[in-house]
Amino acid sequence: MGIMRLGHVNLCVMNIDEAIEHYVNILGLALTHRDQDGTAYLKCWDEWDKYSVILSPSDRAGLDHFAFKVERDDDLDVLAAKIKERGVAVEILPAGKLPMCGRSIRFHIPSGHVVCLFAEKEVVGTAVGNTNPDPWPDGLKGAGVHWLDHLGIVCPFDPEKGINKVAENAEFLQEVLDFKLTERGMVGPQNDIMFVGFLTRTSTPHDIACVPGPAVGLAHIAFFVEDWSAVLKAADVVAKARKTPALTPNRHGLTRGATFYMFDPSGNKNETFAGIGYLAQPDRPLVTWTEDELDRGLFFLGGGDKSFVDSYT
Ligand code: CA
Ligand code: FE
Repeated sequence: MGIMRLGHVNLCVMNIDEAIEHYVNILGLALTHRDQDGTAYLKCWDEWDKYSVILSPSDRAGLDHFAFKVERDDDLDVLAAKIKERGVAVEILPAGKLPMCGRSIRFHIPSGHVVCLFAEKEVVGTAVGNTNPDPWPDGLKGAGVHWLDHLGIVCPFDPEKGINKVAENAEFLQEVLDFKLTERGMVGPQNDIMFVGFLTRTSTPHDIACVPGPAVGLAHIAFFVEDWSAVLKAADVVAKARKTPALTPNRHGLTRGATFYMFDPSGNKNETFAGIGYLAQPDRPLVTWTEDELDRGLFFLGGGDKSFVDSYT
């Protein structure tokens, strides 16, 4: 019942052809649909729904919206009522408003990000099918990522002015949308100010990460790959294409994931994230990172310099 997983992210890109080239040849997604205006829809090989990434031509980078898939159509009514009860406006959108999806609802979370929920999206199947599937398909390009795993959103944070949208989002996502807070990074003399919040609806360590920044934005979108060697391969693919890696392969203390970051041609950050990390069972105790250890929490092997951590679109 309720939200199953991240359904898609809709990114704004400044050159649609370069963006498609990046997501297809570097990350290994497949282009599944184009709109007349150039908007592109893509999926990873191990996903069955029609798309998990929408690239919209724009004069800026960053997020248009992101969407979670709920299990049943009537979950939309239950969650819309809970969101309204919280005093947040909800738009009910007819089938097709989210392309190739059934009806959906649309609202803003406390940080200001636009979130949609939908129950149905056109199913096209994985690249290996459902009958006696091979472990991977032939002809994979680039990093050959499996699926969209999570996204990181930048939330306005200025505790001296009483602004902490990281904490407000974490509360809203838990209380209204039934997310589980798996890990948090705390700052301040008493370590009582939430600086980072990781939340999940699946059994993976996070489906959404809320991180602090000066304004509403996108930190990154992350794709699952199998293991350390797949992370290294993603880094090799970027280096081989003479593109600049955002960060050399590393490990997160938070989630324990092995990780590598790159930029798409518009500057949106992409992460290739390996391993399950741990099973986020419903009764798993909350993990806390304190301010003095937070750098190790973010990048356990070091090297996550400030300009990288602070960059967003
Ligand atoms: Ca996840
Ligand atoms: Fe991430």
